[in-house]
Order: sequence, then structure tokens, then C-alpha cells
Amino acid sequence: MDCVFCAVVAGEEPAHLVLDDEVAVAFLDRRPLFPGHVLVVPRAHHPTLADLPPAEVGPFFLRVQRVAAAVERGLGAAGSFVAANNRISQSVPHLFLGQFRSVS
Ligand SMILES: [Zn+2]
Repeated sequence: MDCVFCAVVAGEEPAHLVLDDEVAVAFLDRRPLFPGHVLVVPRAHHPTLADLPPAEVGPFFLRVQRVAAAVERGLGAAGSFVAANNRISQSVPHLFLGQFRSVS
């Protein structure tokens, strides 16, 4: 399988990691749309949110929550934006939650 996010998780593709544990890996987007643009991906390859096994939803979103708080704190932002593309506009077919500080 040729998946760039699986390569990041395996340490085969360089990335600036901000979280790396048994559930998820978070790293800075290579082409950030906004300051603090971080992608959070499950360690296992699941193409979309609907494919994430129910038992993994809670643990994964705890990491998403932690990174969202860190982005806000780290950038002194008043808020943040957290979203997932599912197939439409999804640049890599491995679930990722993109998040960045609110621009306002
Ligand atoms: Zn993958």
C-alpha cells in the first residue's frame, strides 16, 4: 500500500511530529493553509471517518481534542477549526483531522 500518512506513522516519511502515541500521530501540514495547521491521523490505515472502528473513535478524538487545545494555547488563539474531509477534497485517503487556529 502506498499511503504517505502510513509512511509518516512508520517513521519512513519525515514530518514534524507534535504527538506520537499508541493511538494517533499528529504532525504539521507540509503545505499549511493557516498558522498551526496540524493533521491528526490514526496509526492504523482507515480511509475515512466512517471506516474508523467504533471502539477507536473515542480514543482517537481524545487526541484530536488534546491537539486542538495545544494549537490554541501554543498560538495564543481565541479559537480553532477542526475538520475532516471524507473522500470529497480529501488529499490523502487515510483519515485525518485537520486543525488550525481560528483566523479571527
Ligand atoms: Zn494510511
